[in-house]
Amino acid sequence: MWDNTESPSQALTQLCGSSKVSLEDDFIKLHPRSSIEGLKDFKQESTFVVKATIKHVLDHDDRWYTACICNKAVYPDSKMFFCEKCNKHVIKVTPRFKLKLRVIDATDSTTCVVFDRDASAMLKKSCSDILDLQDKNTAAGDLPKEFEVLIDKTYLFKVECKNDYNTKFEQSFRVKKVCMDEKVIESFSDVEIKSLDLYSANEEETKLNERTNQISSDSIAEKNQMILRL
Ligand SMILES: [Zn+2]
Repeated sequence: MWDNTESPSQALTQLCGSSKVSLEDDFIKLHPRSSIEGLKDFKQESTFVVKATIKHVLDHDDRWYTACICNKAVYPDSKMFFCEKCNKHVIKVTPRFKLKLRVIDATDSTTCVVFDRDASAMLKKSCSDILDLQDKNTAAGDLPKEFEVLIDKTYLFKVECKNDYNTKFEQSFRVKKVCMDEKVIESFSDVEIKSLDLYSANEEETKLNERTNQISSDSIAEKNQMILRL
């Protein structure tokens, strides 16, 4: 279970972040967009951008894990921690976020897994900050107040779509990057509206055609009546 908490994709995005790809290019141009329904149907490995609203921070699993300085999750062993990646016992560890968010869009709902860098950006707090606050204020099992700021927020999520999930469990999607920039979210929505406009324009045309057909069939009926009268 520790394997999936390692986040090589995070290191990769950090690398990409230092290149000149703008947030806008990253979320609007470079990756195809998808609805949640579309994600679930897609069976190949790929990356999509989804606009979704956070409805719940799931708590049936821990919201954080203990990590080595190399970022790999560690497990307690003989009063220390053991890191499989460094292959040794380590003392210096930090808590890191692994948030499971229940998100929705107009088509469906799903679970997204957001890791430390994006989670702390969304919460504007580091994982250890939240844990410090949590000890003082929150009863076990309750959603800590600090997480409530996420509820009903609509962001763009760059998610990894994989076909290797275990069908026994509900599918969840690993989030590579979250976009909270209002301008980028707006231009993402603009494209959405444009395609909707196109759709309704087509619909108008169909209605217009139907009306024309109606008129012509009416006039045919009229003609037929005239013939009958004759
Ligand atoms: Zn390590």
